Amino acid sequence: MRIVLLGPPGAGKGTQAKRITGAYNIPHLSTGDMLRAAASAETNIGKKVKETMASGKLVPDPLVLAAVIERIAQSDARHGFVLDGFPRTISQAVTFDDLLHTEGVELDRVIELHVDEEVLLDRIVTRAREAAQAGGAVRADDNHEALKVRIDAYREQTAPLIDYYRSRNVLKSVDGLRPVDSVTEQIFQIMERRQRAISNTVAEQAKSGRPG
Ligand code: ADP
Repeated sequence: MRIVLLGPPGAGKGTQAKRITGAYNIPHLSTGDMLRAAASAETNIGKKVKETMASGKLVPDPLVLAAVIERIAQSDARHGFVLDGFPRTISQAVTFDDLLHTEGVELDRVIELHVDEEVLLDRIVTRAREAAQAGGAVRADDNHEALKVRIDAYREQTAPLIDYYRSRNVLKSVDGLRPVDSVTEQIFQIMERRQRAISNTVAEQAKSGRPG
């Protein structure tokens, strides 16, 4: 199954993506992780990506698309994936649709984790504090200034994707303020309904003798 998780920073995409990966055996593709890996390279591009990410702004499309295209071509992603952090702009979504179309596949569901903006800052500040307390690394963009830029970027550039995918009949929204397990439950229900719809279509096509 091909799933996109959509939602602002701090909505819980990473947490839910890991659970989907565990239950459905499809890889978790996080553009944030891909770009952090690119940013750790001591190259000019690496340095530029690192600066852009630390500021909270979006990394230019060609770099993001190159990373996604390369990752998606790997064999573990052939039958499905859960994308976290991509697409993040209408232009990324259009390019991605074209790419999937060329491959003869489509997105099964785009699941929006809906969270009010006021709770996002709190969640991310808590995440940074907990990471520091546990002796782990705090992300360079988990500070107030970059956070505001990330939330603004979401509102202005990514939120329009909600309508874009709604008009394509693939959008489902879940309440991201509910407890983590309850959000997972809602996501699994959406995926199971989709799975049943696919099975029914296949069964009907088989009955009527039409090819699938
Ligand atoms: P979050 O969504 O919690 O802010 P991510 O790890 O998904 O964190 O992304 C961190 C940063 O990586 C973003 O602020 C942005 O600079 C960059 N990034 C990730 N995905 C994309 C994308 N699809 N397009 C452009 N930039 C991206």
